[in-house]
Amino acid sequence: MSELFNLQLSEKMEPVLEAVKAFIANEINPVEQEFHDSPKQDNIWMLSDRQSEIIDDLKSKARAQRLWNFFLPDWNGEGVSNLDYAYLAQEMGKSHLAPEVFNCNAPDTGNMEVLAKYGTPEQQQQWLAPLLAGDIRSAYAMTEPDVASSDAKNIATTAVLENGEWVINGEKYYISGAGDSRCAIMIVMVRTDPNPDAPMHSRQSQILVPMDNPGVEIVGPMNVFGDPDAPHGHMHLRFNNCRVPESNMLLGAGRGFEISQGRLGPGRIHHCMRALGQAEVALEMMIKRGLSRQAFGKPLIKLGGNFDLVAESRIELDSCRLMVLQAAKAMDVLGNKEARVYISAIKALVPKVTGEIIDRAIQMHGGAGVSQWTPLASMFTHNRTLRLADGPDEVHRMVVARAEILKYGQ
Ligand SMILES: Cc1cc2nc3c(=O)[nH]c(=O)nc-3n(C[C@H](O)[C@H](O)[C@H](O)COP(=O)(O)OP(=O)(O)OC[C@H]3O[C@@H](n4cnc5c(N)ncnc54)[C@H](O)[C@@H]3O)c2cc1C
Repeated sequence: MSELFNLQLSEKMEPVLEAVKAFIANEINPVEQEFHDSPKQDNIWMLSDRQSEIIDDLKSKARAQRLWNFFLPDWNGEGVSNLDYAYLAQEMGKSHLAPEVFNCNAPDTGNMEVLAKYGTPEQQQQWLAPLLAGDIRSAYAMTEPDVASSDAKNIATTAVLENGEWVINGEKYYISGAGDSRCAIMIVMVRTDPNPDAPMHSRQSQILVPMDNPGVEIVGPMNVFGDPDAPHGHMHLRFNNCRVPESNMLLGAGRGFEISQGRLGPGRIHHCMRALGQAEVALEMMIKRGLSRQAFGKPLIKLGGNFDLVAESRIELDSCRLMVLQAAKAMDVLGNKEARVYISAIKALVPKVTGEIIDRAIQMHGGAGVSQWTPLASMFTHNRTLRLADGPDEVHRMVVARAEILKYGQ
């Protein structure tokens, strides 16, 4: 167990971390503002020509330097541990573009992991290869508007086998990335066993559905605090007698929960790692603003309780970092399944703390904090959604509480 307390970056990854930092500083930061300010297309779900040029150029440079697909367990034939990845993801989280530039963006990483772990050679050739190359993007469709989807056992979209094809019917919403015109494939959680007496955990399955399937209807984008978040988008989808070959099933009918156990752990911890990067950016912005503006004869940072808020932010952020590193280490040492309580603990804590730190930075910026002149408003709204996506805070607290109470035999 003492292994769980060795939270250092491995020596072999030290130069890689430095290379990631340098790439973000020298290649991404100089063009990031231009990317965001670039005029949108009439079709908001497509990148503009200039945006495509920027992102494609950055991706090919990152790939040429082998700063690519770090999340893969056998990265460059050596492997990046979850702990090492935590250090890298924290840096990537500081920039909006970086995760995609290094092909380490959600939800693609989780989908690639599923395909790598559970896909057949044919599924891997068709979908994993172009995802690993960064040529296409993907989505993961579980949540449904009509059932409480934080309990995955409620998922009601059906898939019925008919003449060698699965016929899918149902509705999903908030499917991230499904708006992006580059999104080619979706992993969809469906119910394959209609028997109401079937064991709860073997009713669900996960199946591959190409976005251009005529049975996939994009009803429209779901807004996030009033914004459609184009071109990524969080789509409301309907499956209308959507037919896919029997071979599109992942792992086997009834094994959807098994796949979720493998997929959601890494996805959740990646969100928390990137959130730490956002919290660092917010704290830096809060301090710089507080030092550079004066009111009532003093720098803002010295007024009222602001000094204290800086300390509180640093203390909370560093505590969160230690917990994230330990959860990553637990995944390395104990495995994803055994590490689930560590993962739930950070998922319930980190987005909440990050939100508070971003909120303090907004406050220190006055009106500019909620304006288009700083990234803080968008950081705040994105971070707020993390308290829902991949399981609301309460569900993760339930996991922690259950494990804690179990220690007393109940
Ligand atoms: C921006 C964004 C992106 C998303 N991306 C995706 C995506 O790509 N794919 C996808 O499938 N889904 C996605 N989601 C959906 C997200 O995962 C769900 O919203 C989330 O899982 C909760 O499900 P629900 O909305 O049905 O809420 P419900 O299950 O109805 O829960 C509502 C509330 O009930 C309370 N609650 C639930 N369980 C408990 C409990 N055990 N104890 C106490 N209180 C509880 C919580 O307060 C919870 O917020 C996204 C959501 C957002 C906002």
